[in-house]
Amino acid sequence: MSGLELRNIVKNFGAVEVIRDVSLEVNDGEFVAFVGPSGCGKSTLLRLIAGLDKPSGGSIAIDGKDVTEIGAADRGLAMVFQSYALYPHMSVRENLAFGLENTKVAKAEIEARIADAARMLEIEPFLQRRPGQLSGGQRQRVAIGRAIVRRPDAFLLDEPLSNLDAELRVSMRAELAALHARLKATMIYVTHDQVEAMTLADRIVVLRGGRIEQVGTPLELYNKPANRFVAGFIGAPH
Ligand code: ADP
Ligand code: MG
Repeated sequence: MSGLELRNIVKNFGAVEVIRDVSLEVNDGEFVAFVGPSGCGKSTLLRLIAGLDKPSGGSIAIDGKDVTEIGAADRGLAMVFQSYALYPHMSVRENLAFGLENTKVAKAEIEARIADAARMLEIEPFLQRRPGQLSGGQRQRVAIGRAIVRRPDAFLLDEPLSNLDAELRVSMRAELAALHARLKATMIYVTHDQVEAMTLADRIVVLRGGRIEQVGTPLELYNKPANRFVAGFIGAPH
C-alpha cells in the first residue's frame, strides 16, 4: 500500500503506557486530524510517526516500507510545532534555508523553493527580518514555510495554531485548507480544537488515554459517535 501505516503501536515512558495498541492507515494526500483531551497522547503519537522517538512496540510503514528503525531525517516528513521552533538569531530567509543547506538540494533550487514558499505564505516582505520582529501569525507562517521548502511527502503539525488569537486562527485555518488543496500532500494535524478538526480533516482520529476511540469522517463522527465520549468531544447531540 502507499501512505502511512501504524501497526499495534505501543509507547511506554517508564512504567506508564502512553500509547496503547494504536493501528491506523493514512492514505496519500489525506488530511487526518488527531483530537482528544490534553495528555491523551497526540503529540507522542506524532513524534513516533516523525521518527523523533521510537515506539516500544509495533511498527510504522511509509509507502509500504518499514521505517520503524529509520531516523527522522530519512522519513521524508516535515514537522511543524506549536512553539514555531524558529532560530531567533537567524533571518526568516536563513530559517527557511536551514536544513536544506547541507543536503543534495542545489543552491539555485533552494532559492527557488524559498521564493515559492514565501510567495505562497505571503511572507516575502519579512525575509530579512528575525523571528523576534514578526507577529505570532507571521512566525507560524515561517514555521510552515520551513516545512514546505523541504517538499515532504507528509506534514506533521502539532497544534500549529494554538498560540494564535481566535481571529487569526480562523484565517490561518482557511490558509491551511488552501495549502493542502494546493500541495496535495498528506497532513496529520494534532489539535484539541474540534471545530478545527471538523472543518479541515478528511478523517478524524479521536484519542483517549493512549487509545483510539473512533476513526471516521467528520460527518460519521457527528452522526454516529461510537460512544458518549466521542459525542461529547465532537459536540454531537447524545
Ligand atoms: P497530548 O499531546 O495529547 O496532550 P502527550 O503526547 O504530550 O499528550 O502526552 C501523553 C502522556 O505522556 C502525558 O501523560 C505526558 O505526561 C506523557 N509524556 C509525554 N512525553 C513524555 C516523556 N518524554 N516522558 C515521560 N512522560 C511523557
Ligand atoms: Mg500535545
